[in-house]
Amino acid sequence: MATNVDKILKETEKKLQPQFERIEQIAFKNQKKVLQAFIDMRVSSQCFAGTTGYGYDDVGRDTLAKVYAKVFGGEKAIVSPILTCGTHAITTVLYGLLRAGDTMLSVTGLPYDTLHETLFGKGNSSLEDYGVKYKQIDLNEDSTFKLDEIYSAIKEINPKVVYLQRSRGYSSRKALSPYDMKELFDNVKKLSKDCFIVVDNCYGEFVDDIEPTDVGADVIVGSLIKNPGGGLAPTGGYIVGSEKAIYLISTRYTNPSLKLEVGSFEMGYRLFYQGLFLAPHTVAQALKGTALVGQIMQDKGYKVIPSNQEKPEDIVKSVVFNTAEELIKFVQTVQTVSPIDGYVLPLAWDMPGYQDKVIMAAGTFVGGSSIELSCDSPIRAPYIAYFQGGLTYEHVKAFAEKLIEIY
Ligand SMILES: *Cc1c(COP(=O)(O)O)cnc(C)c1O
Repeated sequence: MATNVDKILKETEKKLQPQFERIEQIAFKNQKKVLQAFIDMRVSSQCFAGTTGYGYDDVGRDTLAKVYAKVFGGEKAIVSPILTCGTHAITTVLYGLLRAGDTMLSVTGLPYDTLHETLFGKGNSSLEDYGVKYKQIDLNEDSTFKLDEIYSAIKEINPKVVYLQRSRGYSSRKALSPYDMKELFDNVKKLSKDCFIVVDNCYGEFVDDIEPTDVGADVIVGSLIKNPGGGLAPTGGYIVGSEKAIYLISTRYTNPSLKLEVGSFEMGYRLFYQGLFLAPHTVAQALKGTALVGQIMQDKGYKVIPSNQEKPEDIVKSVVFNTAEELIKFVQTVQTVSPIDGYVLPLAWDMPGYQDKVIMAAGTFVGGSSIELSCDSPIRAPYIAYFQGGLTYEHVKAFAEKLIEIY
């Protein structure tokens, strides 16, 4: 006998059919792209073997980098469990490209919270501490670029790095599509031949059928415990870009003499390969899940960002609540449907790298992985839950079922 909850779920899914079809089409394109890269780069089971110590001639590491470069449309890549997280990978990129006296121009406003201490401060080895200058131009209210302001700033200050963050971070803006970056990138390249366009691509991989590198970004960078790890990669980060940019970054990633010649991982690389292979499908599962939850909350009268009528550009859905209590309840409900630590109650705490107290639900197989069903939120007004992931659509649907009962 169908309950009322079942009925609502069915009706909501019916509404979402056109969106699901679009998501599946993009996943199909990306799956073929990844498959072809595996074949072209001659991936064999030999590539899975681990190495120890210096890791000279580590075939698994080097081939994985070639596959990433191919998939993400760059000349070269660094893909490594030695990059501890997305923040570390982004920081490595910035220190590799910027020198004392250079300027970094962020054109999407203030970068992600965990990068603030990379950018600012004295006596903390920040970029500012090293004499790198920083300038920022915010997005317009509707999350578009302030093109004229950006172009005059480039003419005036000639930045070494033009920096974009594709996903929204902890803000209420929208995520950006690579298609919306093309005009900007073309003009930046006309105005400044030797600046590097760097995109923090976290949460954006495989959401669209192209990546920022395909429209002219010099470097894209992200975390392996988000989209491209497909839920299997146990840790790490990736950096894909032009030969020139990756050379500079590699001198900082290890050191000027070692560059990409070293780096071992005894566990072996199978999970990185298998995760990347699954990633287009996993991202599609997450996108369908966030669409379902977004629709349910929207139908209940809550504001969700992006609204469920819009095409998503990252795997995050924000739900705006009126009070901290409602927000905390939502995050705690995610935890109750988590396969790991599903019996514990998350509370808000002072996390390293974040300015406000943060509450996180992450009952994940890989610690802190946010391609898995997870939800996090700083406790500050407006009370926004940033909800993402789900390795399978069915898992997110189990969460959606709870939401129908609670709200
Ligand atoms: C997750 C994320 C990062 C990096 O975060 P880590 O937790 O260090 O991997 C950077 N930028 C954005 C927009 C992100 O979502």
